[in-house]
Amino acid sequence: MVNTIPGVFSPLDDFTTGKPAQIEYSVRVSPRAKRVTLKISPPDGLVVVIPRAFKKDKVPAIVEDRRHWIERALSKVLPAGISKEGALPPGSFFFALPGKSFGLAGDDILLHLRALAEDHLVPWAWKVANETGLRPERFSIRNQKSLWGSCSSKNRINLNQKLLFLEPHLVRYVVLHELCHLEHRNHSARFWTSLRDLDPFCCAHRRELRAAQWAVPSWAY
Ligand SMILES: [Zn+2]
Repeated sequence: MVNTIPGVFSPLDDFTTGKPAQIEYSVRVSPRAKRVTLKISPPDGLVVVIPRAFKKDKVPAIVEDRRHWIERALSKVLPAGISKEGALPPGSFFFALPGKSFGLAGDDILLHLRALAEDHLVPWAWKVANETGLRPERFSIRNQKSLWGSCSSKNRINLNQKLLFLEPHLVRYVVLHELCHLEHRNHSARFWTSLRDLDPFCCAHRRELRAAQWAVPSWAY
Protein backbone atom coordinates (compact mmCIF):
# COMPACT_ATOMS: atom_id res chain seq x y z
CA MET A 1 0.00 0.00 0.00
CA VAL A 2 1.48 3.29 -1.03
CA ASN A 3 0.30 6.51 0.52
CA THR A 4 1.23 10.04 -0.24
CA ILE A 5 0.85 13.04 1.96
CA PRO A 6 -0.81 15.91 0.19
CA GLY A 7 1.43 18.85 1.02
CA VAL A 8 -0.79 21.43 2.62
CA PHE A 9 2.09 23.45 3.88
CA SER A 10 5.57 22.31 3.28
CA PRO A 11 8.75 24.23 2.72
CA LEU A 12 9.99 21.34 0.62
CA ASP A 13 9.52 21.49 -3.10
CA ASP A 14 9.49 18.55 -5.37
CA PHE A 15 12.17 18.33 -8.07
CA THR A 16 9.76 17.64 -10.87
CA THR A 17 6.53 19.43 -10.06
CA GLY A 18 7.58 22.44 -8.02
CA LYS A 19 4.84 21.42 -5.59
CA PRO A 20 5.45 20.56 -1.93
CA ALA A 21 7.19 17.23 -1.87
CA GLN A 22 4.92 14.31 -1.27
CA ILE A 23 6.34 11.51 0.79
CA GLU A 24 5.52 8.06 -0.48
CA TYR A 25 5.49 5.28 2.04
CA SER A 26 4.05 1.91 2.76
CA VAL A 27 2.55 0.76 6.02
CA ARG A 28 3.39 -2.62 7.51
CA VAL A 29 1.39 -4.00 10.42
CA SER A 30 3.61 -6.02 12.70
CA PRO A 31 2.16 -8.17 15.47
CA ARG A 32 5.46 -7.90 17.33
CA ALA A 33 5.88 -4.12 17.07
CA LYS A 34 5.35 -2.27 20.36
CA ARG A 35 5.52 1.19 18.87
CA VAL A 36 5.61 2.95 15.50
CA THR A 37 8.94 2.85 13.69
CA LEU A 38 10.09 4.34 10.42
CA LYS A 39 12.44 2.36 8.20
CA ILE A 40 14.17 3.45 5.03
CA SER A 41 15.84 1.04 2.68
CA PRO A 42 16.70 1.37 -1.01
CA PRO A 43 14.24 -1.17 -2.46
CA ASP A 44 11.23 -0.27 -0.32
CA GLY A 45 11.73 3.40 0.40
CA LEU A 46 9.98 4.52 3.55
CA VAL A 47 8.13 1.83 5.49
CA VAL A 48 6.07 2.72 8.54
CA VAL A 49 5.85 -0.26 10.86
CA ILE A 50 2.89 -0.11 13.24
CA PRO A 51 1.61 -2.35 16.03
CA ARG A 52 -1.57 -4.26 15.23
CA ALA A 53 -3.74 -2.11 17.48
CA PHE A 54 -2.48 1.17 16.06
CA LYS A 55 -4.94 3.23 14.02
CA LYS A 56 -3.74 3.64 10.45
CA ASP A 57 -5.31 7.04 10.06
CA LYS A 58 -2.76 8.42 12.52
CA VAL A 59 0.12 7.50 10.22
CA PRO A 60 0.05 10.55 7.90
CA ALA A 61 0.48 12.92 10.86
CA ILE A 62 3.45 10.89 12.12
CA VAL A 63 5.08 10.95 8.72
CA GLU A 64 4.50 14.70 8.38
CA ASP A 65 5.96 15.20 11.85
CA ARG A 66 9.15 13.38 10.94
CA ARG A 67 9.40 15.00 7.49
CA HIS A 68 12.81 16.55 8.01
CA TRP A 69 14.35 13.34 9.26
CA ILE A 70 12.73 11.39 6.42
CA GLU A 71 13.89 13.82 3.78
CA ARG A 72 17.45 13.68 5.02
CA ALA A 73 17.40 9.89 5.25
CA LEU A 74 15.88 9.52 1.78
CA SER A 75 18.50 11.83 0.31
CA LYS A 76 21.14 9.29 1.29
CA VAL A 77 19.46 6.54 -0.69
CA LEU A 78 20.58 6.56 -4.30
CA PRO A 79 17.86 7.20 -6.86
CA ALA A 80 16.62 4.03 -8.49
CA GLY A 81 18.45 3.09 -11.64
CA ILE A 82 21.47 5.19 -10.93
CA SER A 83 24.54 3.27 -10.02
CA LYS A 84 27.75 4.85 -8.88
CA GLU A 85 29.71 2.22 -10.72
CA GLY A 86 30.60 3.14 -14.27
CA ALA A 87 29.54 6.71 -13.72
CA LEU A 88 32.84 8.43 -13.18
CA PRO A 89 33.21 12.19 -13.46
CA PRO A 90 35.27 13.52 -16.36
CA GLY A 91 38.66 15.13 -15.68
CA SER A 92 37.10 18.55 -15.94
CA PHE A 93 33.61 19.87 -16.42
CA PHE A 94 32.06 23.15 -17.60
CA PHE A 95 29.56 24.59 -15.11
CA ALA A 96 27.08 27.06 -16.56
CA LEU A 97 26.56 29.09 -13.44
CA PRO A 98 30.11 30.22 -12.69
CA GLY A 99 30.60 29.97 -16.48
CA LYS A 100 33.86 28.07 -16.36
CA SER A 101 35.43 24.65 -16.22
CA PHE A 102 36.77 23.03 -13.08
CA GLY A 103 39.01 19.99 -12.74
CA LEU A 104 37.22 17.19 -10.94
CA ALA A 105 39.75 14.38 -10.81
CA GLY A 106 41.15 12.90 -7.66
CA ASP A 107 38.73 14.11 -5.02
CA ASP A 108 35.55 12.89 -3.47
CA ILE A 109 33.29 14.21 -6.20
CA LEU A 110 30.32 15.04 -3.96
CA LEU A 111 32.50 17.03 -1.57
CA HIS A 112 34.05 18.73 -4.56
CA LEU A 113 30.63 19.73 -5.89
CA ARG A 114 29.61 20.97 -2.46
CA ALA A 115 32.67 23.19 -2.28
CA LEU A 116 31.97 24.56 -5.77
CA ALA A 117 28.40 25.27 -4.75
CA GLU A 118 29.51 27.00 -1.53
CA ASP A 119 31.98 29.14 -3.51
CA HIS A 120 29.77 30.02 -6.46
CA LEU A 121 26.11 29.20 -5.86
CA VAL A 122 25.80 30.82 -2.42
CA PRO A 123 27.26 34.26 -3.34
CA TRP A 124 25.22 34.18 -6.54
CA ALA A 125 22.04 33.44 -4.57
CA TRP A 126 22.82 36.37 -2.26
CA LYS A 127 23.08 38.65 -5.29
CA VAL A 128 19.64 37.51 -6.44
CA ALA A 129 18.29 38.01 -2.90
CA ASN A 130 19.73 41.52 -2.74
CA GLU A 131 17.94 42.44 -5.98
CA THR A 132 14.62 41.45 -4.41
CA GLY A 133 15.06 42.89 -0.95
CA LEU A 134 14.05 39.51 0.51
CA ARG A 135 16.64 38.29 3.01
CA PRO A 136 16.88 34.73 4.24
CA GLU A 137 18.67 33.94 7.48
CA ARG A 138 21.20 32.09 5.38
CA PHE A 139 21.73 30.00 2.26
CA SER A 140 23.01 26.49 2.84
CA ILE A 141 24.13 23.87 0.37
CA ARG A 142 22.66 20.40 0.58
CA ASN A 143 22.66 17.35 -1.62
CA GLN A 144 19.03 16.33 -1.45
CA LYS A 145 17.86 13.48 -3.57
CA SER A 146 14.73 15.06 -4.94
CA LEU A 147 14.57 18.72 -3.96
CA TRP A 148 16.11 21.67 -5.72
CA GLY A 149 15.55 23.92 -2.77
CA SER A 150 13.64 24.42 0.44
CA CYS A 151 12.89 27.19 2.85
CA SER A 152 12.66 26.43 6.55
CA SER A 153 10.39 28.05 9.11
CA LYS A 154 13.55 29.70 10.45
CA ASN A 155 14.03 31.44 7.10
CA ARG A 156 16.98 29.33 6.08
CA ILE A 157 17.10 28.45 2.41
CA ASN A 158 18.69 25.18 1.40
CA LEU A 159 19.94 24.86 -2.14
CA ASN A 160 20.76 21.59 -3.82
CA GLN A 161 24.37 21.42 -5.00
CA LYS A 162 23.09 19.77 -8.21
CA LEU A 163 21.78 23.21 -9.21
CA LEU A 164 25.34 23.69 -10.50
CA PHE A 165 24.30 21.67 -13.55
CA LEU A 166 21.33 23.85 -14.44
CA GLU A 167 21.16 26.89 -16.66
CA PRO A 168 21.44 30.10 -14.62
CA HIS A 169 17.89 31.24 -15.45
CA LEU A 170 16.53 28.05 -13.84
CA VAL A 171 18.76 28.42 -10.78
CA ARG A 172 17.47 31.94 -10.51
CA TYR A 173 13.91 30.63 -10.64
CA VAL A 174 14.63 28.19 -7.77
CA VAL A 175 16.23 30.94 -5.66
CA LEU A 176 13.36 33.36 -6.30
CA HIS A 177 10.82 30.63 -5.58
CA GLU A 178 12.38 29.90 -2.19
CA LEU A 179 12.77 33.61 -1.41
CA CYS A 180 9.03 34.04 -1.98
CA HIS A 181 8.41 31.39 0.66
CA LEU A 182 9.88 33.81 3.22
CA GLU A 183 6.64 35.75 2.83
CA HIS A 184 4.22 33.01 1.76
CA ARG A 185 4.64 29.64 3.44
CA ASN A 186 2.59 27.83 0.84
CA HIS A 187 1.82 27.77 -2.85
CA SER A 188 -1.21 30.02 -2.65
CA ALA A 189 -2.34 32.37 -5.38
CA ARG A 190 -0.59 35.18 -3.49
CA PHE A 191 2.64 33.23 -3.51
CA TRP A 192 2.49 32.87 -7.30
CA THR A 193 1.59 36.55 -7.73
CA SER A 194 4.68 37.55 -5.73
CA LEU A 195 6.84 35.15 -7.67
CA ARG A 196 5.48 36.42 -10.99
CA ASP A 197 6.42 39.96 -9.97
CA LEU A 198 10.01 38.80 -9.56
CA ASP A 199 10.08 36.36 -12.46
CA PRO A 200 7.47 37.13 -15.15
CA PHE A 201 8.28 33.81 -16.84
CA CYS A 202 8.02 31.76 -13.67
CA CYS A 203 5.40 29.39 -15.12
CA ALA A 204 7.57 28.56 -18.10
CA HIS A 205 10.61 28.19 -15.88
CA ARG A 206 8.70 25.89 -13.57
CA ARG A 207 7.78 23.67 -16.53
CA GLU A 208 11.35 23.72 -17.76
CA LEU A 209 12.60 22.72 -14.33
CA ARG A 210 10.60 19.49 -14.46
CA ALA A 211 12.80 18.21 -17.24
CA ALA A 212 16.00 19.72 -15.88
CA GLN A 213 16.90 16.83 -13.61
CA TRP A 214 18.18 15.08 -16.74
CA ALA A 215 20.89 17.72 -16.96
CA VAL A 216 22.41 16.30 -13.78
CA PRO A 217 25.00 13.64 -14.59
CA SER A 218 24.77 10.35 -12.71
CA TRP A 219 28.17 10.89 -11.05
CA ALA A 220 26.72 13.89 -9.22
CA TYR A 221 24.32 11.74 -7.18
ZN1 LIG B 1 7.64 26.14 -3.13
